[in-house]
Amino acid sequence: MIGMGEEKTTYVIPGDVLAYSEEYLPGKNTLEENSRIISATSGEVKKNDKELVASVDNGIKRILPRIEDIVYGKIMKNDSRQVSIQIVGIEQNGILENYMADGYIRNMQDYKKEDRRAQTVHIGDLIRGKVIRVGQNLEITLNGNRLGVLKSRCSRCREVLVLKNGVLFCENCNRSEMRKIAPDYGSPEFGEMKK
Ligand SMILES: [Zn+2]
Repeated sequence: MIGMGEEKTTYVIPGDVLAYSEEYLPGKNTLEENSRIISATSGEVKKNDKELVASVDNGIKRILPRIEDIVYGKIMKNDSRQVSIQIVGIEQNGILENYMADGYIRNMQDYKKEDRRAQTVHIGDLIRGKVIRVGQNLEITLNGNRLGVLKSRCSRCREVLVLKNGVLFCENCNRSEMRKIAPDYGSPEFGEMKK
């Protein structure tokens, strides 16, 4: 920017003085102390010279989940009534972002029998799902081409299950388990994908 709107980028840490109270009003992430506006966070100073507000942008993006967004998470609970998911990541516009939220898969009884198979998971499974309802918690489905379990452990011995002839298999117990698996089962986990 040039001219009147010209602004220097200034980074501050908590406690740095941004301005005096007679010049600006305290904005986001600031405190007012002894007629001074002080930063309450680390980040970039933003001074609005029209409204005379000084604030600090700490760079934390607020993510609003939308229907059809892809999410990554871990199955925390799975009983006959509900599957609970701790969501740790979200994919928006092809970009993976860290994102913490509670999700769930609807009561299995509400699914038609043939659709239930598409939601077969076990506690501890890492999954890739899709948001189908946005509310206080996110409703997730695993029914879709890319969707399903990415990593799973044997429910008997906790060994990581391997894919063998299209079936999840425990080489320790010599037995197979049923899951709705993603086509890239065994690929890097969410944390590793982001790197
Ligand atoms: Zn096993």
